[in-house]
Amino acid sequence: MTSHALHCVECGAEHSSGQCVSCGLTVAAAEIVFRRRLVRRTAWFLAGAIVFVPASQVYPPLELDRIWIFAGGIFFATLAIAFWLDGRARRRQDVEVLKRVYFGLVPVLWVLAALLYTNGRFDSSQADIHPADVVGTFSMPGLPGSYRLIVTSWRQGRMWERVPVDQVDFDRFRAGDGVVVLVREGLAGIPWVYDVHRP
Ligand SMILES: [Zn+2]
Repeated sequence: MTSHALHCVECGAEHSSGQCVSCGLTVAAAEIVFRRRLVRRTAWFLAGAIVFVPASQVYPPLELDRIWIFAGGIFFATLAIAFWLDGRARRRQDVEVLKRVYFGLVPVLWVLAALLYTNGRFDSSQADIHPADVVGTFSMPGLPGSYRLIVTSWRQGRMWERVPVDQVDFDRFRAGDGVVVLVREGLAGIPWVYDVHRP
């Protein structure tokens, strides 16, 4: 048994051999058209990843690092699927399921970026005021805007919070300082850091 494609790589219609009865493309032509589509979607996906990094920090969620880890997982999984898809298409193997998974993953980072932006932009809740102590600071060179104050947590069952801040606030606080963290609820229920200031 070979695992050769039972479906046209471009339109997904079943075919036996030669020309696709649905879109009229030959196997070779369908592969070219499909590859172009794959490149276009991949460009969209990469643009989404580029937009996500700054968009997720305009109204930075309190759990920004976890959200970044999640987004990073999506990013690498999607890229891996793109390569896999490309390889299967090249070997003329069936791509129907993988194609759906991939095209479904392409907009995920765009959606997530829009969700985090909207969550803060249209939030009319009052800020909760949390006094805490700075225990350390952290930034990742190479990741723009990754400035965090590590502070004592006000939530139950947690030791620390990793509070996203801008560079000015990052430079202004040292371990041992007192800090007041203003957190708003978020339109989508994702708590985000409104401001930090001195007690
Ligand atoms: Zn077709």
